[in-house]
Amino acid sequence: MAHKTDIEIAREAQKRPIQEIGAKLGIPNEHLLPYGHDKAKIGQDFIESLSGQSDGKLILVTAINPTPAGEGKTTTTVGLGDGLNAIGKRAAICIREASLGPCFGMKGGAAGGGYAQVVPMEEMNLHFTGDFHAITSAHNLLAAMIDNHIYWGNALEIDQRRIVWRRVLDMNDRALRDTVTSLGGVANGFPRQTGFDITVASEVMAILCLATDLADLEKRLGDIIVAYRRDKTPVYARDIKADGAMTVLLKDAMQPNLVQTLENNPAFVHGGPFANIAHGCNSVIATKTALKLADYVVTEAGFGADLGAEKFMNIKCRKAGIAPSAVVLVATVRALKMNGGVAKGDLGTENVDAVTKGCENLGRHISNVKSFGVPVVVAINHFVTDTDAEVAAIKAFAESRGTEAFLCKHWADGSAGVTDLATRVAELADSGVANFAPLYNDEKPLFEKIETIAKRIYRADEVLADAKIRNQLKEWEAAGYGHLPVCMAKTQYSFTTDPTRRGAPEGHSVPVREVRLSAGAGFVVVICGEIMTMPGLPRVPSAEAIKLNADGDIEGLF
Ligand code: ADP
Ligand code: MG
Repeated sequence: MAHKTDIEIAREAQKRPIQEIGAKLGIPNEHLLPYGHDKAKIGQDFIESLSGQSDGKLILVTAINPTPAGEGKTTTTVGLGDGLNAIGKRAAICIREASLGPCFGMKGGAAGGGYAQVVPMEEMNLHFTGDFHAITSAHNLLAAMIDNHIYWGNALEIDQRRIVWRRVLDMNDRALRDTVTSLGGVANGFPRQTGFDITVASEVMAILCLATDLADLEKRLGDIIVAYRRDKTPVYARDIKADGAMTVLLKDAMQPNLVQTLENNPAFVHGGPFANIAHGCNSVIATKTALKLADYVVTEAGFGADLGAEKFMNIKCRKAGIAPSAVVLVATVRALKMNGGVAKGDLGTENVDAVTKGCENLGRHISNVKSFGVPVVVAINHFVTDTDAEVAAIKAFAESRGTEAFLCKHWADGSAGVTDLATRVAELADSGVANFAPLYNDEKPLFEKIETIAKRIYRADEVLADAKIRNQLKEWEAAGYGHLPVCMAKTQYSFTTDPTRRGAPEGHSVPVREVRLSAGAGFVVVICGEIMTMPGLPRVPSAEAIKLNADGDIEGLF
């Protein structure tokens, strides 16, 4: 039997009115702001009223280094949330919103897959509740106000060669990466070279996802560095007087969105920063609200655990004052085979040796996660092509590393396929064995923070950075930014900076190409290798196959 597509399964969902989902969490109707019948924002006043309540247990879903074979972190997050509910626990999930760009580029949505999805998946993958449009508008308002300030005399003495605030658009559009603005004569201002990034790469997105409330949001927006003067002193968004209006544009976007899984369990879908130049997790406000309302909150961090889990722990948890009680590492037979050296075309053939060899990658992530003081189990996200011997090899490996691996069939069977994992995760979370600590303290010099991650997570021997980069870090320390965490931007495909080096390499060097200060978000971005902040569309974009059918339903979206 041919498998149903994600969208076909989603369309058959028996959705409950969003008020019923809210009621499961104890949210009164008047504090749910409905967007249609199946989506709602949660009111700010209600969120504030929860501050005295105790928190549930936080569970992070992360993965081995991704391969083009796909791992299924979101799918497993949704499945585990449903699994916990199925065994009688009060659980909610927290995931990121989708960017339009990749939606029309490569296939693959952000709502999970198979029988472990969040609905309405079409809307979640498209405009949803308009948060990304609000972020785009707030970002571009600041850009417009900078050029306007210069047009009307440049009282702040901005050096027009040193404007660092670009524009954003939620679209994959390589034509906009490098542009010249203000062409066409005196009335249009002063021509200068700039460009566009995709909305999820905006610092406004990272800020929205780290801000604890509207006042904190406004302060952080004001702290954004937009340009430098000739004497290299920074000009802030506050100096441009944009922070107030930006906050107004973001007022509704700051409220977390509530939707449901295919099994009618609560799902918070809010925020979606890039996992390379930002921290790659859903919003702090959604996670904290979920923790007040549910006993178990399952959330996901982007990319593999070397990037996603590291940033979740060192940036999000540190800043939000939250701590995970357990971590689930998602692995697939296919991805382990690729880590073991098998080419993509040969993944369909049983190869136990390659799986075992690829498990070195899994083993590295297991010990890395443990180094944060949090217990970890492995979820084997089952694909129909996996063989029993291959699955057994992963289980044996996990045992040899002092942990357990569970075969999970949530993609095919929903919660019924993931109850073993759910039972063990709940036990672990309740056991109190977690003793979370970030890898480095705030006081450590910025360069040593980079070295700590490179050596302890990537297992590199050294970090290479020329004097210009080291001096820049020292200047920021002198300017009062030394306490910030670092946000590593490197390839997600390898522990090294070379995307082709799979497995568990050691003894490599990590070259730092560039450092950027995200003063509003509150981290220093450390760029190792080529990082794309405006993706392009592939030769055959998935947009070509997306259309409305005669019934008015969307076809071709995943
Ligand atoms: P991630 O969050 O790690 O990027 P997703 O959970 O979004 O991955 O899954 C990526 C794609 O893989 C989705 O389209 C999903 O339907 C598909 N997928 C996930 N798990 C399975 C599985 N067990 N079998 C087949 N396809 C799967
Ligand atoms: Mg995902």
